[in-house]
Amino acid sequence: MGKLKEFDIPSDSVSEFSDLVKELHDVDVNLCYQCRKCTSGCPLTDFMDYTPTQIIHAVRLGLKDLVLNSNTFWYCIACGTCSTRCPQETSLLKVMDALSNIALKEGIKPKAPDIAKFYQIGLANISSFGRMYDLGVAGMLKLQTGNLTQDLATGLKMLRKGKLGLLPSFQNTATMKRIFKRVKEREKV
Ligand code: SF4
Ligand code: SF4
Repeated sequence: MGKLKEFDIPSDSVSEFSDLVKELHDVDVNLCYQCRKCTSGCPLTDFMDYTPTQIIHAVRLGLKDLVLNSNTFWYCIACGTCSTRCPQETSLLKVMDALSNIALKEGIKPKAPDIAKFYQIGLANISSFGRMYDLGVAGMLKLQTGNLTQDLATGLKMLRKGKLGLLPSFQNTATMKRIFKRVKEREKV
């Protein structure tokens, strides 16, 4: 038998937007009863324009424009604290992931463009090398954002201490390519 949830809320569909999130990541936002345990544990709320609790409620109500034009899901670092704390087992982490996917697919300009670029460069990097090539990602990010000197001192210090590899190392590249191909195929459906 599955773990019992704190409240057995009937999870009837409330909006098409909440149905879309469910379809993408099988998360039922309608189970949320706004206890705010997710928000009180989230380490990034100071930077978010809407808290995770507000975002899940807005998804439920179908406030698509407000949600997709917020910075909340871009600032999410996928630490999973919200999902662990949720008494309703509503995986907010997956909701955040679904929102960034929907926003990108719908061509919505990311509210945190540097973070969105980091994700895109990071994923392309993993697809090529099978793992993250930190120096390559940092270099590409600097070129694309124009922040050429930002964190340069820290980067040089890390290089001197051997914490950043000069060259990429390849790992499970064939498997990674297969995974990326499968995801692309699924996205077409
Ligand atoms: S912890 Fe779960 S039930 Fe509580 S507000 Fe967050 S998502 Fe909703
Ligand atoms: S997974 Fe994202 S939304 Fe959830 S606690 Fe971590 S940073 Fe906050």
